[in-house]
Amino acid sequence: MLRQNKKRRKDILTSDFIGNTPIRRCDYLSSKYNTNIFIKEEFHNPGMSSKDRPALFMIEEAIRKGKIEPGGTFVEASSGNTGYGLAMIAREMGYASKIFVSKSCSSEKVEILKSVGAAVEICENSNGLHDFYSTQFRAQSYAANNSNCYFTNQYYNSSNIKAHYKTTGPEIWQQMKGEVTHFIAGIGTGGTISGVGRFLKEKNKNINIWGLEPTGSILSHFLTYRTLPTEYEKFEPIEGIGRTFIPGSLDINCVDKIFQIGIADSKSAAQEYKNATGFLIGFSSAALVAMLEAHINSLAFKQTDIIVVLFPDHGSRYMSKLYSKNEIVNEKSKVI
Ligand code: PMP
Repeated sequence: MLRQNKKRRKDILTSDFIGNTPIRRCDYLSSKYNTNIFIKEEFHNPGMSSKDRPALFMIEEAIRKGKIEPGGTFVEASSGNTGYGLAMIAREMGYASKIFVSKSCSSEKVEILKSVGAAVEICENSNGLHDFYSTQFRAQSYAANNSNCYFTNQYYNSSNIKAHYKTTGPEIWQQMKGEVTHFIAGIGTGGTISGVGRFLKEKNKNINIWGLEPTGSILSHFLTYRTLPTEYEKFEPIEGIGRTFIPGSLDINCVDKIFQIGIADSKSAAQEYKNATGFLIGFSSAALVAMLEAHINSLAFKQTDIIVVLFPDHGSRYMSKLYSKNEIVNEKSKVI
């Protein structure tokens, strides 16, 4: 469903083109759990993900503050989506982009990054600035050692939260006419849940703001104990969510609960959702669907609840990981 009422301008750099994504009631999940579940469909953004919003805010702020000269290079560490938004917008504005992605990034995302002219470098992990092999460390040192480069640093850039506070949160509030009891989103940089959570809590402090991370990630530990765990499990990230450090873009005070989910459950949920609805959903969106199923008893939804779940991107970015024949065979054999 494309937005009908927008004039497609020659450039994409209009705040009325990025954002204003639809919310759709999901009859499948609503009837399955006997409640009201709405999906905020962020794949309707021009770069097909929620990350166009912070990408635009970070670029605009850098230019406004004179952090980069015309024709310079925007540098970012990304699981792919911020990188794509950034590269797309940078190109429109006459800048180059260099994106550092971790080796877990899907091949589709690497290809689409290159298609908008981004220089892509694959790194070992995305474990944060303290790890020499991480996307963040590599991006920071590249920007420091090359002229006219600016590292947007989405994990510590206040424009990340601001983008969601100024756009995604108000959109949800208006689209739901203020009738929302829960907002649920995956946590990567924390920008989405912090910006939307802060906005919705200011409107109504009783709205439940719930996050999701992959099993083994440390953010739920941090929410409970406000310290880092002394021991880390090695965990496999779900693309876009899960951390081994606490990002500066996560305002933990905006979050009420964080749930965890595994990769196998998320892959099965993607298949089930596709079979039930015909939609190809992204990996972290599938993780959210899997979370509803796995935690449904403790979620304790009421029939009158109105739950908004944010789907950040589209399944077409994960054909090889979620929907290829091999994956389907593997998942089936696992079930048997
Ligand atoms: N899902 C996907 C697919 C993403 O690309 C991201 C961004 N890293 C997220 C979820 C999490 O969003 P945020 O960074 O705002 O926490």
